[in-house]
Amino acid sequence: MRFLSAVALVLFALSTTRAEDKYWDISDLKVAKPEDKEDVKSTPSPKGALVLFDGKTLDNWTKTDGKSAAAWKLLDGGIAQVNGTGNIITKEKFDGHFKMHVEFRVPYMPKASGQGRGNSGVYVMGLYEIQILDSYNNDTYYDGQAASIYKQHPPMVNACRKPGEWQTYDIIWEGPRFDRQGKLLKPALVTVLQNGVVVQNHFELSGATSFVEKPHYTPHPSKMPMGLQYHGNPVRFRNIWVREIKDIVGKPGNHPHHPG
Ligand code: MG
Repeated sequence: MRFLSAVALVLFALSTTRAEDKYWDISDLKVAKPEDKEDVKSTPSPKGALVLFDGKTLDNWTKTDGKSAAAWKLLDGGIAQVNGTGNIITKEKFDGHFKMHVEFRVPYMPKASGQGRGNSGVYVMGLYEIQILDSYNNDTYYDGQAASIYKQHPPMVNACRKPGEWQTYDIIWEGPRFDRQGKLLKPALVTVLQNGVVVQNHFELSGATSFVEKPHYTPHPSKMPMGLQYHGNPVRFRNIWVREIKDIVGKPGNHPHHPG
């Protein structure tokens, strides 16, 4: 009898392992535990980057009407904090292929849970949300956790730091392309590093972020502003910049072969 229950236990353990290997499912409500990692320092903007938030002013941003001044709270230490004035967007519009660097800090909200804990987000081109959430120790639907392409694809690993600690997203983006009739020629592709860890790798988006609908593309101009989400939680931001990714111009040359 005891032997049989041992066998049953082993079989159960095996089946559990196998269940965990399956492809993620939208109904999964458990988020992977974060991996240990080293401290992340603020990354200065490199040459050629356009600084969107330097900590001193939100002059490069507006409310979503594109006109009214952004009114998030400016705090000491070069920080902007989300408040009830809503989402903000950049005055500058961006095209095609770029890297966006964002530093953020989710608050410690032990009484909140799920999507209510440290929620904000980066709206790439104003439409495609890279989720910001406290997913350090906070279950939610699998493709709604931090660093997910919201409702499309969860991060490959949980690279979150504790609430109250600064974190980084480096978003390498290739925007979608539409023809004149609005037909999709090329979907958007995204790679995301969270705190230096690759969490999304060349993921092909199936459309703009939507909460209820299946994601799908709606044609939009090739140049669009960036957005940051108001979701009711006092998430903080600092040091945000975008750098265009441009291929070098030229052709393969007729150089003599150099070994090595
Ligand atoms: Mg969000």
